[in-house]
Amino acid sequence: MNNPLSGSESHPNEKEIRANHNAGAEVERPSLNFLEEIIEDDLRQQKNDSRIHTRFPPEPNGYLHIGHAKSICLNFGLAKKYNGKTNLRFDDTNPTKEDVEYVDSIKEDVNWLGFSWDGEYYASDYFGQLYEWAEKLILDDKAYIDDQSAEEISKGRGTVTTTGINSPFRNRAIEENLDLFRGMRDGKFPEGSRVLRAKIDMSHKNMFMRDPILYRILFSHHHRTGDSWCIYPMYDWAHGQSDYLEGITHSVCTLEFDVHRVLYDWFLEQLVEGDYRPHQYEFARLNLSYTLMSKRKLLELVKDGIVNGWDDPRMPTICGLRRSGYTPESIRSFAERIGVAKRDNVIDYSLLEFSLREDLNKKTNRVLAVLNPVKLVITNYPDKESEFLDAVNNPEDPSAGIRQLYFSKELYIEREDFMIDPPKKYFRLFPGGEVRLKYGYIIKCEDYVTNPDTGELLEIHCTYDPLSKTGGPNANRKIKGTIHWVSAQHAIPVEVRLYDRLFLNSDPEDVPEGKDFRYNLNPDSLKIITALVEPSLQNLKPLDQFQFERIGYFNVDSDSTPERPVFNRTTGLRDSWAKSGN
Ligand code: ATP
Ligand code: MG
Repeated sequence: MNNPLSGSESHPNEKEIRANHNAGAEVERPSLNFLEEIIEDDLRQQKNDSRIHTRFPPEPNGYLHIGHAKSICLNFGLAKKYNGKTNLRFDDTNPTKEDVEYVDSIKEDVNWLGFSWDGEYYASDYFGQLYEWAEKLILDDKAYIDDQSAEEISKGRGTVTTTGINSPFRNRAIEENLDLFRGMRDGKFPEGSRVLRAKIDMSHKNMFMRDPILYRILFSHHHRTGDSWCIYPMYDWAHGQSDYLEGITHSVCTLEFDVHRVLYDWFLEQLVEGDYRPHQYEFARLNLSYTLMSKRKLLELVKDGIVNGWDDPRMPTICGLRRSGYTPESIRSFAERIGVAKRDNVIDYSLLEFSLREDLNKKTNRVLAVLNPVKLVITNYPDKESEFLDAVNNPEDPSAGIRQLYFSKELYIEREDFMIDPPKKYFRLFPGGEVRLKYGYIIKCEDYVTNPDTGELLEIHCTYDPLSKTGGPNANRKIKGTIHWVSAQHAIPVEVRLYDRLFLNSDPEDVPEGKDFRYNLNPDSLKIITALVEPSLQNLKPLDQFQFERIGYFNVDSDSTPERPVFNRTTGLRDSWAKSGN
């Protein structure tokens, strides 16, 4: 893989990560994160009858990404740990951008990550109740219809340093407000002509309390409520009340919502009685280096054809990660490993890859594949003969067993494993040198053939030591290098898609003025080659995973057919992007 970095950034390398990880493992009882502390405190006080109920509230306006995965693992994880429940709630209050396609993909992704929800809910289920509550606010003189334009409203709101000014419509009579609100609901007014606002305090130091908008007019078809409504609630008006209606106890969201919390509490205070209230808590959203994380920008990548769809293996979407070979376990362990922060930070992408390798190392069978083949002939091996060599499927998992590998006179090896004029300490193959073939014999390079015009290497000629096979008398002869190979006659050609990171800069949006993230695209994020793999790779199913020995982890793509198998590179065996000067 190319390494375009000059080495100016610091990446935790795997050794460091592993050291930190192991240090953590020695602690007998891992310390609680701040949300667990809050929950344990609430449980001690028997708040909410000791119920714990969380929710994951996606807006169905795009596919879920790795940031959402963090939120999913957190919400479902907390409920699981404390014997609680988790709802899946679609925050579907903005019909112009939402679609059932997204609802379906979100459910599939949450399930695939290994979680099942206690209830499937939609904010749109509460449109009726929310409407009634809005009328109640109007009757209590706590909401009014504002006829100002969007610009006037925004201007009147003031700034963080200046107070807002009251709308000229703020003192409308209750009856008139009610009448106009019903008119809005009944479709009597055009879009943009009026909104319903809460009457709170235009000089409040928190801008969100300066008479926030509750409803706007939208003549839009909704994917669930159809054309029943032409007014739609704003996020703040819908969210806390939905939490309340579902009996949520801990409403966990990302830091940018901390300024909304006062409003969240204010609404419920006006509307409901009794002791029970949901509470909002904020944690730092996940930011990953080399990754764009907003649905809007991911949509641009898809629409502009920079990637091949939402599930392109270079996308940070859950479906993209799945297609590229990420496992639910690796994503969950990543989410666990990064913890729950209260301050914004950027997590290095290599930590995600580390979690992946750790999981795949345990699970995948090893196979031999040659990505850049050059022919190697064993001159003293009998013509037209072949034999089987025993190969261990997975040294990490004895139950994976062994398989038999075809061996014959003509092989392919990796072009990079041979040098005509090697530097010192080159332990692979070179004229006069010896190397071990993985699971097989020791061979010695006697000769090679090049194209006289171009100098291109055409063929390598070797002899083998027939007594050097595992178990043979010369098996323990000391040889420094071991290389992989496939039998020319038996190998299967396959398409391999070599994916790499989509962006060259750890911050994709760090660009010169006038440019956008496209400036940082990695021109080599996908290379397609034909490779040769051992013949055991048959009857492949999409998502089947392997370690191509000495190369990396690969999985079967959904485009694969029996006639034309297709593999994706999931990740290399080690971090090729780490600061290493290579
Ligand atoms: P985006 O900004 O990418 O469009 P969003 O926040 O608008 O994401 P929602 O569908 O509203 O997407 O998010 C559903 C839940 O996932 C919310 O609770 C949100 O806080 C959480 N979430 C979204 N992005 C992240 C992230 N990067 N890290 C952690 N949680 C996230
Ligand atoms: Mg959102």
